[in-house]
Amino acid sequence: MKYCQHCAATLVQRIPTGDDKLRYCCDACNTVFYQNPKNVVGTLPIQGDRVLMCKRAISPRLGKWTLPAGFMENGESSLNGAIRETFEEAGAIIKVSEDSLYTLFNLPAINQVYMFFRAEIISLDEVPGIETTEIALFTEAEIPWQEIAFPVVRCTLECYFRDLPQRKFPVRMFDVHHQEDRSITTNLISHSHKSEK
Ligand SMILES: [Zn+2]
Repeated sequence: MKYCQHCAATLVQRIPTGDDKLRYCCDACNTVFYQNPKNVVGTLPIQGDRVLMCKRAISPRLGKWTLPAGFMENGESSLNGAIRETFEEAGAIIKVSEDSLYTLFNLPAINQVYMFFRAEIISLDEVPGIETTEIALFTEAEIPWQEIAFPVVRCTLECYFRDLPQRKFPVRMFDVHHQEDRSITTNLISHSHKSEK
């Protein structure tokens, strides 16, 4: 961020009065620009014993498999954003239940929060969106586990297939930490059915 979006003056980075963090500030029109985490919303679309995945046509992780997900738009709910992304990226019309929220990931290193919702596939268009080269329905054994784009996707799939035999799908929240050696750790922080194990 270099120029003020209101008056086009050059921005300076400083800690505003009463604040404790560096912000981009415009001293011409006295505007402070706050930068906050972005929400990424997606679904785990299920048909029978198979899950719908998308092969990425874009960077990062081009050619790797992911679940349909993308940035929320302004004026949109998290669930509606996930439903929209599922249609745009995978051409899938889905149905969600009232307990559809499934996994939430905090990624403080890259200033993002990921949310995945469980969904049932109603219909599937064979033509994927422009961010996808291929879509496929996989059983647990068929999932290309070595070719998964993001740790949040792997974790959500692992949770699902672990929960499936019990038919209980508690909401889980994780903190994802990016280590200095570039490895990533995913720690469970909250679990809505913890007492039942
Ligand atoms: Zn300004």
